[in-house]
Amino acid sequence: MARIHHLDCGTMCPIGGPLVGARRWRDRGRLICHCLAIETARDGVILVDTGFGADDCTHPWRLSAIFRALVAPRLDPQATAVAQLAALGFAPKDVRHVVVTHLDPDHAGGLPDFPAAEVHVHAHEHEAAMARADLRAKSRYLTNRLDPGARWQRYLPDGDTWLGLPAVRALRGVSADIALVPMIGHTRGHTAVAIRDGARWLVHAGDAYFDRRELGGVGRPPPALRWLATIDEVDRAARLASVEALRTLAARPDVTVVCSHDPSELPA
Ligand SMILES: [Zn+2]
Repeated sequence: MARIHHLDCGTMCPIGGPLVGARRWRDRGRLICHCLAIETARDGVILVDTGFGADDCTHPWRLSAIFRALVAPRLDPQATAVAQLAALGFAPKDVRHVVVTHLDPDHAGGLPDFPAAEVHVHAHEHEAAMARADLRAKSRYLTNRLDPGARWQRYLPDGDTWLGLPAVRALRGVSADIALVPMIGHTRGHTAVAIRDGARWLVHAGDAYFDRRELGGVGRPPPALRWLATIDEVDRAARLASVEALRTLAARPDVTVVCSHDPSELPA
């Protein structure tokens, strides 16, 4: 059976005190970049999202100024996926596949660290990232991270389903049971990634939500995170439908849902 490592590949510390979930006004919030490294017998290591990469740490000014001002990434070379995998005994070439929820810099910044990997992505996300059609797309899709010549594997849902949702069930060249489950709204081709883990499923929901409380339970997400979700979205109705679908999934006993940025969801 595959072994799944949960990695935080980039902490972000936005200012705003209680607006970002901190206790006092002088404190900063804390968001993580929750990535998964799946050790498999037949497919090598499969990464789900990369977080920030080595080049983000050495050339932080290549990230957009707005992005840096909003989320204040810490950019620690030791936190990159490539460094954390090295500590686990894996070379960059051992990562044969990267499955990305979407191509924002805090999810795909590390792609250049794994040049040999096939990169599995929703076709509309790839299209939006390559076209960079408007100002927002230009600031979120960075040309120095998203190489048009990389080994892109692009997908559109083809009629298959996963637990009743439209999905791509077979990733090219991957024998592990991993599905792309489109959760559109944050970006044009945003997807969740569902990984079979024995009798259970682990769902990485990317930025479909930012705070666990969006899926129900006690309390509401901090105001700045609710605001961030709306200023970052490309399609509100689709985003809210994605959150609703994840709420239903999270209520199932055989499904664990995590998102990218809520530190409470990172296993100890
Ligand atoms: Zn993000």
